[in-house]
Amino acid sequence: MEKVAVIGAGTMGNGIAHTFAQFGYKVSLIDINQESLDKAIATITKNLDRMVKKEKISEADKATTLANLTTHTDMAQGVAGIGLVVEAATENVDLKLKIFKQLDELCAPEVILASNTSSISITKIAAVTSRPEQVIGMHFMNPVPVMKLVEIIRGYQTTDEVTHTIMELSKSLKKSPTEVNDFPGFVANRILMPMINEAIITLHEGVAGVEEIDTVMKLGMAHPMGPLQLADFIGLDVCLSILRVMHDGFGNPKYAPCPLLVNMVTAGHLGAKSGNGFYNHTHGTKEWIVADTFKK
Ligand code: NAD
Repeated sequence: MEKVAVIGAGTMGNGIAHTFAQFGYKVSLIDINQESLDKAIATITKNLDRMVKKEKISEADKATTLANLTTHTDMAQGVAGIGLVVEAATENVDLKLKIFKQLDELCAPEVILASNTSSISITKIAAVTSRPEQVIGMHFMNPVPVMKLVEIIRGYQTTDEVTHTIMELSKSLKKSPTEVNDFPGFVANRILMPMINEAIITLHEGVAGVEEIDTVMKLGMAHPMGPLQLADFIGLDVCLSILRVMHDGFGNPKYAPCPLLVNMVTAGHLGAKSGNGFYNHTHGTKEWIVADTFKK
């Protein structure tokens, strides 16, 4: 497989496109929004520059990686001649079902359709295609060029052969693929999101402030980032969608999103990507400064 398409050029799409291009694949990066595509190429260039500076890659590697990337707003044009699609569009069930229906019509029958969804059922996505056995979850972690794990999610009908192909392909990206089955939240978010939600509930109930909660988890549990920092980094809208999928999927109130999280997302406070969340992300430094709303 030489050519892949990545759908969605946001936080994850740009990292996935970067990684495939760095390891020699030709990548079509597709988004409905030209601005997202331009921003993605700028981010990839900045991240490659950082890698050159740290002597992880050479200037020539950077040039080859960028040359492997093309951008498209037209899906039909972007998927021409590819062997694999990795969909990383917004976490919304209806949107993903629409995209997979479209991909199924546009892509040759042998093409494998993967989704980077954090929580939406792979089996449900597969069911809208005529090739459910060739649909699989390829759940990369953020930031993609750095994080080793790819959670490989087998849908109800995904074949051994397709799973094997995707496991091997992930290894060619120097990742550590780990196979799991298709249940709400899979493994990563089934465990992570209740922790993040509980941290938000702890803040909401006034048990402790933003910095205190994150400090307890960083110093006490040896987490490299506190749960509220991580929530800002993932995107609060993404966290909310995942919790809603688990809440609906299991019908268990323990997954109900904290009302504070719901309010923040409704207000457009989405974390790092919108400039504000539990922390303020507009000051242009690497320092974690608590958002004004949560200052004591
Ligand atoms: P994002 O909001 O940063 O980016 C989504 C992109 O999808 C946007 O650029 C948007 O323009 C584009 N898009 C929307 N509709 C489209 C369409 N019809 N065709 C093409 N592009 C379209 O979102 P994100 O954080 O990158 O998340 C993308 C996916 O990755 C989601 O399924 C999410 O659950 C998953 N994910 C996110 C993280 C994370 O840390 N943010 C981690 C793992 C997986």
